[in-house]
Amino acid sequence: MSLFRSAYHDGDRLEVEGSPVRLKVHARARRVSLRVDRARREVIATAPSARRLAEAAAFARDRADWIAARLGEIPPAEDLAPGMIVELFGEPHLLTRDEGRARFVAADPYGPARIVVGEAAFGPAVVRLIKRHALERLTAMTRAHAGALGAPMPKVLLGDAKGRWGSCKPPVGREPAVIRYSWRLALAPLAVADYVAAHECGHLLELNHGPKFWAHVHGLVGSERPHRDWLRDHGARLHAFGR
Ligand SMILES: [Zn+2]
Repeated sequence: MSLFRSAYHDGDRLEVEGSPVRLKVHARARRVSLRVDRARREVIATAPSARRLAEAAAFARDRADWIAARLGEIPPAEDLAPGMIVELFGEPHLLTRDEGRARFVAADPYGPARIVVGEAAFGPAVVRLIKRHALERLTAMTRAHAGALGAPMPKVLLGDAKGRWGSCKPPVGREPAVIRYSWRLALAPLAVADYVAAHECGHLLELNHGPKFWAHVHGLVGSERPHRDWLRDHGARLHAFGR
């Protein structure tokens, strides 16, 4: 590799002997350094400027063994199995195997709410049920927020885009606006999912993130900050769920 190579960019991903490494420019950093992002299961190689990213990449390659060891310490994502507890919009649900089609069973005095699955493929049946639940609940939140803003009810769809919890497509002709949510919001606390719904509904009136847009969102759910922080801190765990 040439010492003069500087074709690296902020945010680039590298593979260092099989380990994922992300390059990051941090203007206040004084030197190149490595740190482990446990939630994203990757190592961040930081440099003070874009020019020095090549140096950060070389540093990461020098420490390939250290990187592999640190990433190896992170526990693997849990497979969905009977006995696990999954929180849906903050409510704990015990995953249970029993006969019949996948279904929800409400909490009773003897135990928590349950997701009961009879299908041989346990995990996929749980995920299908969670997606159906997510669509119902997110549609209800959307209806409430759109109504409060005086906006027409959009079409609500689910997706699974990484790093994108919701998106809003404006109406075209007679077609209504379309709001698409990540089904994984079902794994977030209710207030966080509700914030994302309020955010996307805000875009029914304002297709930008200007002061008017935030005024709408704040009017619906108050400050966005704790919810955005929560998604930043827990997003990787939500994306690892059921994989
Ligand atoms: Zn937005």
